[in-house]
Amino acid sequence: MSLVLTEQSHARDGVTFVRAKGELRAALAVARREGRSIGLVPTMGYLHEGHLSLLRAARAECDLVVMSLFVNPTQFGPDEDLDRYPRDERRDVELAAEAGVDLIYAPPVEEVYPDGFATTVAVEGLTEVLCGDPARRGPEHFRGVATVVAKLLGSVQPDVAYFGRKDAQQVAVIRRMVRDLDIPVRIEALPIVREPDGLAMSSRNAYLSDAERARATALSRALGVVERVAGEGSLSAALAAGRHELEQAGIEPEYLEARDAETLEPLSELGPRPILVAVAAQVGPARLIDNVELPADGTKTRARVALSAHRPQKQEEA
Ligand code: AMP
Repeated sequence: MSLVLTEQSHARDGVTFVRAKGELRAALAVARREGRSIGLVPTMGYLHEGHLSLLRAARAECDLVVMSLFVNPTQFGPDEDLDRYPRDERRDVELAAEAGVDLIYAPPVEEVYPDGFATTVAVEGLTEVLCGDPARRGPEHFRGVATVVAKLLGSVQPDVAYFGRKDAQQVAVIRRMVRDLDIPVRIEALPIVREPDGLAMSSRNAYLSDAERARATALSRALGVVERVAGEGSLSAALAAGRHELEQAGIEPEYLEARDAETLEPLSELGPRPILVAVAAQVGPARLIDNVELPADGTKTRARVALSAHRPQKQEEA
C-alpha cells in the first residue's frame, strides 16, 4: 500500500496508522482500485472484547479492515465525561494489530470538525426517546453520533460497517440514517459481549470500584429476569420483575423500557415484532447501559442474558 506518512502517521506490525483524511483516502484508493472489500469498525478506543468481536467479524468478512479511533466530542453533553473518557492509544494499536486491522484512522478533533463546520445529521423521533430523552443525554447525543458516523462512512466508503448491539438505540439510528440518506453500506449489528458475571463490556466499566462493579451486575441480571418472566407471557409483569431486581441492588434506573426494536415506539404488550428491552442506570461514577432483544413471539428467547454470560452471544441473528 503506497502512502505518504506524516510525522504522526506510521506503518507497523502490518497496520497503517493515519491521522489525516487525505492519507486515509490515499491508503484506501489502492484497495478500492483493486476491487477489495472494505470493512469499517468505528470506535472511541480503550478497546475491550466487545470492540475486538467487531474487528474479528470485519477481518473474517472483508479484504481490508479499517478501525477508526476517535473520542467524538459532539456526542458528549457539557456535564458528561469527555475529559475523563479513558484513552490508551498505544494499547489500542497493539490490540487492533493482533485482531488483524489493516488501517487505523485516529484523527485529531480539528481534522473532523475544522473551523466553520456547520452541518449535522438529525434522525428525528428515534433520537428523542431512551438515552435521547431531553431529560437524559438528549437528542444532541445522537446528532453527534449520526454526524460523525456519516462522516466516517463518507471518508472510508466501506462496503460493511460494524456496530455492537450494546448500543441498540445507536444501531437503530444509524440504520435509519443509512436508509434515509441512501448511504451505500451494509450495517452489521453484532451481539453484546459480556464479562463472565454478565456485565456488558464497556470502556466506562473502568470507572467502577470493586463494590460498584459488583452492583453493576444487577443490570444484566434484571434483563435476564425480564426475559424469563416475558417468556411466561406478560411484558408488564416482566418489566416489574426487572425493576424489582434493580431495586434489590439499590439501583434506581434512568429507564427500563420495552420498545419496538426497529421503530423504538413504546410497547406495553408482547406482540408480533421483536422487542428491545433497554436499561440505563448510573452506578457510582459510570452511566451504564444494557439491553436484550425479545423475539417476535415473546415466548422463546434468542440468547439468554444469564446463560450467555460466559461467552459472547451467538452471532447467527446478526
Ligand atoms: P465505543 O468505543 O464505545 O464507541 O464502541 C464502539 C463500538 O463497539 C460500538 O459499535 C459499540 O456498540 C461496540 N461495543 C461496545 N461495547 C460492546 C460490547 N460489550 N459488545 C459488543 N459491542 C460493543
